[in-house]
Amino acid sequence: MTKKVRVRFAPSPTGPLHIGGVRTALFNYLFAKKHGGDFILRIEDTDQNRYVEGAEQYIIDALKWCGMPFDEGVGKEGEYGPYRQSERKDLYKQYADDLIASGNAYYAFDTAETLDFHRKDHEAKGKTFIYNWHNRLKLDNSLALSAEETQAKLDAGSDFVIRFKSPQDETLHLKDIIRGDIKIDTNILDDKVLYKSDGMPTYHLANIVDDHLMKITHVIRGEEWLPSLALHYQLYQAFGWEAPEFAHLPLILKPTGKGKLSKRDGDKLGFPVFPLEWKDPKTNDISRGYKEDGYFPEAMVNFLAFLGWNPGTEQEIFSLEALINAFDLERVNKSGARFDPDKTKWFNHHY
Ligand code: GLU
Repeated sequence: MTKKVRVRFAPSPTGPLHIGGVRTALFNYLFAKKHGGDFILRIEDTDQNRYVEGAEQYIIDALKWCGMPFDEGVGKEGEYGPYRQSERKDLYKQYADDLIASGNAYYAFDTAETLDFHRKDHEAKGKTFIYNWHNRLKLDNSLALSAEETQAKLDAGSDFVIRFKSPQDETLHLKDIIRGDIKIDTNILDDKVLYKSDGMPTYHLANIVDDHLMKITHVIRGEEWLPSLALHYQLYQAFGWEAPEFAHLPLILKPTGKGKLSKRDGDKLGFPVFPLEWKDPKTNDISRGYKEDGYFPEAMVNFLAFLGWNPGTEQEIFSLEALINAFDLERVNKSGARFDPDKTKWFNHHY
């Protein structure tokens, strides 16, 4: 029996959802529905410094406006709220502890100053500073604490982080549905922090633990996460879990085709990059959305589907239903998709 397809859209509530995020949500949604699977919304809010008031509600409202409801979550059926990592935070510590127990992670007590010193020292010598288990011992013997010394520091209440002991000296052979085969030399990887002194997991730990516990079969996300793929594979290996399949979506490029599309491009050239209006809670600045500009959600969804995907036919107008039928990850491009604001007008006027 093949597994039921389960995907998640996992935004961090650091601001309003822009079209890049909506497109990621859309591709997840289309893939889930095409395969009779589940589409999950998971708010990745473990980084309290980057939390923006109102962003979560904006994400929920934007998905609703686009016609992409999520299939499960916290609360009663029919009134689900999304999963929130901040509400699951106690769970992640246990998994970090498991990795320590199995020798795959360790406590690190180095201060920001120590790390900064070594980084600068390396730079001055024209070398890249990679913080990993081997280098760490070479750098500074005092970092190589015995189990007793570690315990004494913990008992004394010293600030610590838990770092992953990233396996070295091997070539990882990774697979991405869109990119194909990817080879990574593990000696370029550093030992990433999994758990912070503020009692919060980092993105990497919480993301992997949740994808596993939520039985996610396909991770479909932006290309900016491709550099984390090797680490994520190593984490799955360390836990002894089967990794999901991965698909990294191409960037959305500026109308000129050079560089990533940003909110500023929209402001400058006068097109919205948000689905709904957003009022910045700090500055009270208002950014208009497609809704306020009179676009139909169907038209915007149709436009977004073509950013990096094509059906392989001449057909350009698709309902959401038709997109679900036609969608296929194999037809997603590897290269960046140029955002052409004229196309948004075209779609708008034809509906
Ligand atoms: N929280 C990450 C983001 O904001 C999610 C990345 C992922 O999908 O793994 O994009």
